[in-house]
Amino acid sequence: MTDFTMEKGADGVAIITWDTVGKSMNVMSMEAWPVLDGLIDDALADEAVKGIIITSGKEGTFAGGMDLNVIAKMKESAGDNPAKGLMDGLMQTHGILRKIERGGMDDKNKGGKPIACCLPGTALGIGFEIPLACHRIFAADNPKAKIGLPEIMIGIFPGMGGTTRLARMMGAMAASPFLLEGKLSDPKKAKQAGLVHEVTAPDDLIDKAREWVLSEPSIVKPWDEKGYKMPGGEPFHPAGFMTFVGASAMVNGKTQGAFPAAKALLSAVYEGALVPFDTALKIEARWFTNVLMNPSSTAMIRSLFINKEALEKGANRPDAPDQTVKKVGVMGAGMMGAGIALVSAMAGMEVVLIDQKQDAADRGKSYTADYMDKGIKRGKATEEKKEKTLAQITATTEYSALKGCDLIIEAVFEDVGVKAEVTKDVLKHVGPDCIFATNTSTLPITELAKASDTPENFIGIHFFSPVEKMMLVEIIKGQQTGPRAVAKALDYVRQIRKTPIVVNDARFFYCNRCIIPYINEGLRMVGEGVAPALIDNAARQLGFPVGPLQLVDETSIDLGAKIARATKAAMGDDYPDEAVDEIIFWMEGEGRLGRKSNAGFFDYDEKGKRQGYWHGLAEKYPLSEDQPDLITVQHRLMFAQVLEAVRALEEGVLEDIREGDVGAILAWGFAPWSGGPFSWLDIIGTPYAAERCDQLTEEFGPRFATPALLREMADKGQTFYGRFSDEKSAA
Ligand code: NAD
Repeated sequence: MTDFTMEKGADGVAIITWDTVGKSMNVMSMEAWPVLDGLIDDALADEAVKGIIITSGKEGTFAGGMDLNVIAKMKESAGDNPAKGLMDGLMQTHGILRKIERGGMDDKNKGGKPIACCLPGTALGIGFEIPLACHRIFAADNPKAKIGLPEIMIGIFPGMGGTTRLARMMGAMAASPFLLEGKLSDPKKAKQAGLVHEVTAPDDLIDKAREWVLSEPSIVKPWDEKGYKMPGGEPFHPAGFMTFVGASAMVNGKTQGAFPAAKALLSAVYEGALVPFDTALKIEARWFTNVLMNPSSTAMIRSLFINKEALEKGANRPDAPDQTVKKVGVMGAGMMGAGIALVSAMAGMEVVLIDQKQDAADRGKSYTADYMDKGIKRGKATEEKKEKTLAQITATTEYSALKGCDLIIEAVFEDVGVKAEVTKDVLKHVGPDCIFATNTSTLPITELAKASDTPENFIGIHFFSPVEKMMLVEIIKGQQTGPRAVAKALDYVRQIRKTPIVVNDARFFYCNRCIIPYINEGLRMVGEGVAPALIDNAARQLGFPVGPLQLVDETSIDLGAKIARATKAAMGDDYPDEAVDEIIFWMEGEGRLGRKSNAGFFDYDEKGKRQGYWHGLAEKYPLSEDQPDLITVQHRLMFAQVLEAVRALEEGVLEDIREGDVGAILAWGFAPWSGGPFSWLDIIGTPYAAERCDQLTEEFGPRFATPALLREMADKGQTFYGRFSDEKSAA
């Protein structure tokens, strides 16, 4: 059995069917390339074959992309020279795709056979790069299908000709959303954009392609014709020049230079546009090799593709029967409860949304209506879908409506007493098997579980705000939480299509535990007279979406002050953040509560648009004459977070470094190019990390003290993914 098979019809059309053995979706493997190559050779050499159709044997999909082992195998193929292995491997695949593209033409572009590609559905990555090499792409009208080149999202770029072909097909400007942002389209939108040529009824797909193949004597791609000019202008054409200047500014502005793939992609397009097509492919292969040799791409692929998917598929799910949620009760219809009700209803669950007053419950439900209205405006939802979703939510004050719920998610005020009362009342109305989850962001789960007679059924399901946008859900096990509760939480997160991590109960769990020191380190620097712009920009140049001062404005200063007071009360003399509190309490006293009050570390205009940093800050905390260098600021911000992640691992709060890495990127945008805190430590090396911690400790204090685990690993020269690969955290 092979992944590609060919059938030659009496009408002269050879149909090559891609059907990856043992997989539900086609993926390109190292072994499949020569099979495809051989079939193409056969069909091109056979005089009876007039044209070729490449299609998929999988119902409703074409291909999901490339088996990532292909990259590893290419790297290994040239012994101790992985870059050579990659370059050679890439040039071989270019050879095969180029053969398809030229369809057997001679040097004078004569005698080529038409080759069509039929996409029954989703075609991603190499699954779209192969069609791009064909002469005509037919897509079935399948609204669920996603077509495009999402490689940039995991730290690489379309490096099997997709970059060069798409830029030449549509011009650099038009191609940029698909290449630089990884934008995916359904078949109709793909046709509008010029990604595919025809959209047909699913049943007509092959017939239409056959008709075209038989009607078409020979096709020459525009770039194989003499005098080809790139749409939109080549780099030295005035219009092309503007495109590239603009694109370069956009890429650098967006990535702050922290993501190697975007820059490499742009270089491949720019340099490729200056030379003939085959040379352009070679340039693309060189840049792709460069990106694949960067540890960032390995780390990003591992966290954002392999491990994220493993966690979503239940890598850490206890062995328990299916816990699919049918009816969920959401307690509290405020900001979080309203969002939780929305995502649950959209996932098809029956939802009971409870608040103290009917109008509060109704307001919570109206959040779903508003969300669906926005979706309808953007063509992403329909009136029908809106009605169906709203019909699934019962907004009420009546606890009796909770009867039959198999999961409760509590999102009332952050107060132990209020939560305990709600817990007790709810448990009177639900069956003994119902799992009770709290969305608390700061209160210990074990403490809150005391309000329940069945603490084994009590768990934390911690969402991030806004619920419908944030992809991570942090599941927290209290000391007595049982496996069925964990399985329930994981099955629920799977239903709402988010990514879960499972951690143990400790102050601020995992995510907030790491975010708070990041914010605090930024605030400390303000107190020391470091320029606020240096602090925020240092973070952005590390790849963080927002710097710590901007982040605190977004999340609100009074929330920070509230957390500081509660933490101080709980920790007593051990409390380490007096210097930070001075600033945060002062800001609170000044009424500068952040974006919500249109005044924080930044000034805002009346429409809420961020202006410059507030001048009053410099009056209270004058800039020191001696500003630190960028790397020192960046290391302070970085180590403040990663050391907390290491401590969380050391203390058993985190059980799996994969969750630490994936969680950090999805919850607070931790420098995605690094693959997460543990991947970053592996990239810089544990010996250097420990040495740097020693220096930071001496200069800035014991919060940078090297954790024992990191010290031990540094002494042994270990990496996190090396050391923990034998345990369950293997990537
Ligand atoms: P919120 O103030 O917007 O909403 C709380 C809602 O609970 C209010 O509508 C209130 O009327 C209702 N409520 C209070 N007591 C109730 C009771 N006895 N019965 C029924 N309803 C009751 O607060 P929020 O921001 O939605 O936060 C809710 C919970 O989620 C808190 O525990 C908070 O720590 C947690 N959380 C918040 C965020 C965030 O970014 N806001 C993020 C993660 C977790």
